[in-house]
Amino acid sequence: MAKKSEGLAVGIDLGTTYSCVAVWQERYRRAEIIHNDQGNRTTPSCVAFTSEQRLIGDAAKNQAATNPQNTIFDAKRLIGRKFSEKVVQDDIMLWPFKVTAGVNDKPMITVTYKGQEKKLCAEEVSSMVLTKMREIAEAYLESPVKNAVVTVPAYFSDSQRKATVDAGAIAGLNVMRVMNEPTAAAIAYGLDKRTNCVGERNIFVFDLGGGTFDVSLLTIKDNVFHVKATAGNTHLGGEDFDNKMVNYFVQEFKRKNKVDIGGNPRALRRLRTACERAKRSLSFVIDSTIEIDSLFEGIDFYSSINRAMFEKMNMNLFKKCMKIVESCLIDANLDKSRVDDVVLVGGSSRIPKVQQLLQDFFNGKELCKSINPDEAVAYGAAVQAALLSEDVKNVPKLVLQDVTPLSLGRAIHGDIMDVVIPRNTCIPFKKTVEYVTSRENQSSDEILVYEGERVRASGNNLLGSFILSGFPPAPRGSPCSNVCFDIDENGILTVSATNNASGNSNEVTITNYKERLSAKEIKKLIREAEKYHIEDKEFVRNAEAVNALGDYIYKMRNTLKKEDINLKLSAEEIKNFEDAVSVATKLVDENKEKVETDVIVDYLKGLEARMEHIIAKTI
Ligand code: AMP
Repeated sequence: MAKKSEGLAVGIDLGTTYSCVAVWQERYRRAEIIHNDQGNRTTPSCVAFTSEQRLIGDAAKNQAATNPQNTIFDAKRLIGRKFSEKVVQDDIMLWPFKVTAGVNDKPMITVTYKGQEKKLCAEEVSSMVLTKMREIAEAYLESPVKNAVVTVPAYFSDSQRKATVDAGAIAGLNVMRVMNEPTAAAIAYGLDKRTNCVGERNIFVFDLGGGTFDVSLLTIKDNVFHVKATAGNTHLGGEDFDNKMVNYFVQEFKRKNKVDIGGNPRALRRLRTACERAKRSLSFVIDSTIEIDSLFEGIDFYSSINRAMFEKMNMNLFKKCMKIVESCLIDANLDKSRVDDVVLVGGSSRIPKVQQLLQDFFNGKELCKSINPDEAVAYGAAVQAALLSEDVKNVPKLVLQDVTPLSLGRAIHGDIMDVVIPRNTCIPFKKTVEYVTSRENQSSDEILVYEGERVRASGNNLLGSFILSGFPPAPRGSPCSNVCFDIDENGILTVSATNNASGNSNEVTITNYKERLSAKEIKKLIREAEKYHIEDKEFVRNAEAVNALGDYIYKMRNTLKKEDINLKLSAEEIKNFEDAVSVATKLVDENKEKVETDVIVDYLKGLEARMEHIIAKTI
C-alpha cells in the first residue's frame, strides 16, 4: 500500500447497510460529500444479479423484494470471517440469499446471474460496492479516481482489515489507508469544533451503524488526534433492531392467519423493508404503522408498533451497547466525568432510547449532534485521503494516532496466549520478543499467531502460523527464536521470526492467513470485475441503443399520422416509410431476445440516412 499518492484521492465509508464517498475541496477548505446518480448522499451497500444485468446501490435495493435470493446486502458482516463462526451461522438464518462454506471455511454467496449459478466471496461483493462509490466520485469529479482511504470499524480484526484491503484491490483502487471509523468521525467533529477548542479535549465517539457498533475515546489537542481506547462489536447495529421487529411481526402474522411466512424470502424482504421504515420513523414519532398488501398467499398485513414496544424488544441490545461504552472508558483509564464531548455517529444513534441511555450514563451531559451521523465518517476519510496525497492544498495538518483494538500474540507451551502487543497500543508499533526452547534439543519452533483477549490461545482468532526450524542441539531453556510483531498504520500485522543461535538467521513473514485471498486469486477477481464492468457497460449501451431506435420509431409514426401526409409524400414513399417502421419495431421487440447492440446502432444510422429526406419533406 502506498502512503503518499498522486492523482485524485477520495474517502469511502464502506458501511454495512449504506456507503458514502467524499472528497477534499481545496477551494472551500472542507470535504464534500458526493451525491450518487439518484441524488442521494449515501448509497445502499447492495448488489443484485438478474437474468439480464448486475445492479449496485439504489437500483439493487429497489428491486430486492422481487429478487430476494439474488440481492446481496450485509457483505461487511461476512468479510474476513469463517463460515463456521456462530455470528455467520446466525445471520445466514435471516438472509434470503444462499451462503455456503468454500475452501478453508470461507463463506461463499451463491447467486444466479444471466441464468447461471455464480459463487462470490464477501471481498468480491464489497469490491462491487467500492467500484460503485468510485464511479460516483468519478462522475462528479469528471476524472479517474485511483486512490482511496477506506474506513472500517475500529473493532475490526486483522483478518477483516486485510479482507477490506483486498476488496479495494479487486475494485482497482489503491487503498492508501484503512482508517478506523470513529477516528474519521472525530476528525469531522474536530474540524467542526476546532475554533472553540482550548487545551486538550476528551472526545467520546459513539458510532452505532447498520451492522456494527464502535466506540472510541480520543483526545484532541491542537492538531493531534490521539485515540486512547476503542471497543465495540462488529456485529451489533440497526439491522439487529430490524430483525427483532421482523421476528415480532412474523409471530403476529402467524397468530392472526395461522401461516408462517418465515420460509418465504420475498415476504420476509418486504416485511423487513417496512420494519426499517417504521423503525426510522419511531425516532421522530411515537407510533408507526406497517401496511403491506398481499404479503403472503394474498393476505394483507396491517399492524402498528409504538416506540415503547420497539424499545422493549431491543432493550437487551441497547444495554449491550452501554456495557461496551463502560469497558472503553475502563480501558482508557478515564472517569466518565472527564469526557468533554460525546459525539453521535451512525444512523442508529438517532434512536431516542439509545441517546437517553447514553446521556444518563454521562450524568445528563448534552450529546453532540452537530455533525451529520451518516456522513461524518466519509468526511474524515476524505481529510485523511487529502493528507496522504502529494498535491492537495489547504488541508489542515492533522496528526492521527490510532490504536490496535485487539491484543496480538502467539501461543506458548500449554496453549497459553503470550500477548506481544496489548490491545489499545498506539500504531504503528513494532516489538521483538526472544523465546527459549521448552524441550531438550528442540530443533524447531511452531509460531501460531493469534488475536483476542482469551488467556487460552486456541480460544482466540488464529491469524496464521509458520515453523522456524534448523536449531542446533541445545539444553531446554536455550534462546531459540526472536519473534517480531510489526503492526502498520492500517492496523495490519506482519510477523517474522529469526533464529540466530547457530549464527544463521532464518526469517519467515506472515502477511497471509489461510482464508485470505492469494495474490493469484485477487488477480483473477480483478479480471472478473473487469468482465462485469464491460457487461454492465454493454447492458447500458444496448438499452440506450434500443431506446434511441424506439424514439425514432415514435417520430416516424407521428409523421405518418399527419393529416396532409398524402399531399407531401408519394404512395411509394409512404410504403417505404411504413415498411421501415415495421422492420424497426420488430428489431426493438426482438431485442428482448438479445440482438447485438452494434446491429441496432447501425440499423438506426442507416434508417436515419434513408428516411431523412422523407421526414424533411413532411415538415
Ligand atoms: P449507517 O451504517 O451509519 O449508515 O447506519 C445505517 C443504519 O441506521 C440502518 O440500520 C438504518 O436503519 C439506521 N437508521 C437510519 N436513520 C435512522 C433513524 N432515524 N432511526 C433509527 N435508525 C436509523
